[in-house]
Amino acid sequence: MSSEPKFIVLLGPPGAGKGTQAALLQETLGVPHVASGDLFREHLLNKTKFGRQVVTYIERGELVPDDLTTAMVMERLSQSDCQHGALLDGFPRTIGQAMALDQALSERGQRICRVLSIVVPDEVLVERLSGRRVCRSCGAVYHVIFNPPHQDGRCDRCGGELYQRDDDRPGTVRYRLKVYWEQTSPLIEYYKQRGMLTEINGDQPIEKVEEELKAAVTCDGRG
Ligand code: ADP
Ligand code: AMP
Repeated sequence: MSSEPKFIVLLGPPGAGKGTQAALLQETLGVPHVASGDLFREHLLNKTKFGRQVVTYIERGELVPDDLTTAMVMERLSQSDCQHGALLDGFPRTIGQAMALDQALSERGQRICRVLSIVVPDEVLVERLSGRRVCRSCGAVYHVIFNPPHQDGRCDRCGGELYQRDDDRPGTVRYRLKVYWEQTSPLIEYYKQRGMLTEINGDQPIEKVEEELKAAVTCDGRG
């Protein structure tokens, strides 16, 4: 694999398995997992001023405005552990964010080397999101049926308490999928036209999706 920084985008609707796969891929790739949703939730948890600015959007399942989101993610990407790249999960989510990311990376002499689009039918996504449980301490992701912890309600990795995200309730889930189709799905065409996109069938067992993503990750050439 080339030595240029590996900025890889995991694209896909809520529930496609981006976070699950990023946790598995980050070791292989040797770059950190940067999830915009996790960054926002950290602000909410710490009750920061920024958190108060964005909380309503997140509770409603709406997208946070591009300028706020892009500034937060670019600040994260400027930290030293991202100098060799990052596995981006949940960002970009609009054409505006994608353009801002291209611009910011090119100012640093960097670029996205591949966009991996995880494709999953909507009815499967609803089932996945409503059964998702997340560890309060380490952020590990489970599913009550598809990927259950060994002990009910407890994280296998750190023993932390598992909880259900407020925005994983059925009403908000449907709305988030609508937002995805309206505002985020145009990115598929955006990256396809630039020859950067690889589509992966995400409606398969976690290990199989992982295997296909690993095979598709390549930073050689301009894609
Ligand atoms: P995203 O980050 O794209 O929103 P997650 O990685 O959080 O999605 O996965 C959503 C839910 O689906 C979680 O409960 C996770 O355990 C489950 N999940 C992820 N990948 C699969 C898969 N391939 N098959 C079944 N369930 C999955
Ligand atoms: P996620 O954890 O990726 O499902 O994101 C949770 C919520 O955070 C979303 O429903 C949005 O409200 C907000 N969010 C996360 N990433 C973005 C983004 N790139 N642009 C705008 N809002 C975002």
